[in-house]
Amino acid sequence: MLLMKRLLCLLASLCLSLHADMSVSTDFEGGNAEVVKLNQTTKTLRIRPELHEGRGWPCWWYFQLDGLQLGERITLEVEAQTKPFREKQVLAAAWCQPKHAWLSTDGETWSPSDEGTRTKDKVMIYQIQVAAPQMRVAWGPPFVPADAERLLAEIAKRLPESQRFELAKTRHGHAVNGIRIGDANAPHQVWIGARHHAWETGGSQVGRGFIRWYASEEAKALRNQTCLHYIPIMDVDNVVLGAGGKEAEPRDHNRDWADVPIYPEVAAAQGMISDIHRKRGLDAYIDLHNPGANDPVFFFGPFAFERMSGIQQRNYSRWLELASAHITTPRPVEPKYRYANYVTTEEERGRMSSGWVRNHTGDFTISVTLETGWNSPLMSVEGYSNIGAGLGRTLRDYLAENPRQH
Ligand SMILES: [Zn+2]
Repeated sequence: MLLMKRLLCLLASLCLSLHADMSVSTDFEGGNAEVVKLNQTTKTLRIRPELHEGRGWPCWWYFQLDGLQLGERITLEVEAQTKPFREKQVLAAAWCQPKHAWLSTDGETWSPSDEGTRTKDKVMIYQIQVAAPQMRVAWGPPFVPADAERLLAEIAKRLPESQRFELAKTRHGHAVNGIRIGDANAPHQVWIGARHHAWETGGSQVGRGFIRWYASEEAKALRNQTCLHYIPIMDVDNVVLGAGGKEAEPRDHNRDWADVPIYPEVAAAQGMISDIHRKRGLDAYIDLHNPGANDPVFFFGPFAFERMSGIQQRNYSRWLELASAHITTPRPVEPKYRYANYVTTEEERGRMSSGWVRNHTGDFTISVTLETGWNSPLMSVEGYSNIGAGLGRTLRDYLAENPRQH
């Protein structure tokens, strides 16, 4: 009897210790973490973003923890990838070390951890309070193809007149999907999309806020006058892989808008935009990015803005005035354009999506990128979403004034 008791005790403690083991997995869309060390006793996990060679910046990380005990505290340490991502360039640690790690117990709602602390040797340390046996932890609120699929299905259901389409199959066979809302011959034509840079998930979060607003009652009059094309994720291959995408080899998606693009989805977008412009004229092209840690919300405008005159100058100016009135929360949009002056040659400027669209459309077309920063708990799913709704209201008022009239 005593022996039996002892055996049971032993079994129970074995089970407990087995049960208490924490494990890390990344085998899902967007998953990325190279485990540097994992101490089961102190519950300390150190990771770095895994490098996918030739696939751009190693900055994004996203993983699942299993075997967690309610009430315990995990220490997450994040260090930079030490291998070069391109030639001899090694990415600075700050890009993979947001102030807050983002946590989810259901994979859908995301909240920031307490603010991390950065050590002298450039390791970011976050304390994570366990809220469920299984948790997901990420660099920022993720947005992967499964989210895009859910969103497109939701919008298609709400607006039965809309039409889902496959823009292209990527080089790795993934579908790049979009939705068209409105009559192809509508008086106004708009193209909006996100994730030319795979890790810039906030761009897709803004896009989701925008398209949900666009499908709402408030946007009904706008929808009646407009044909909108919306692409939630451009660089699907790198998003699936959890790779950064930016500065991929030989060039990333937002430098691929050349005469002969490398990526089928870029070629397909060029084809569709050219068609739209030829048939009905394109009013607005809006590309959503999310690059700078502490950037405000702002638009990159056309390099030649200062030298513009007439209808071009009027439209770009008016766009920004209206954006200032409508994009106010969680941070107001800057009332002046910025310019991507770090891109120095005309040739490279022409290979950026916004530049290509400017060079292939009309004098009434505006082509802008909306940039949001990420290093703040304000830049949450809800925060980005509010910016997207503000963008929608900007578009509504802008088109209502008919930017085509001279
Ligand atoms: Zn970008």
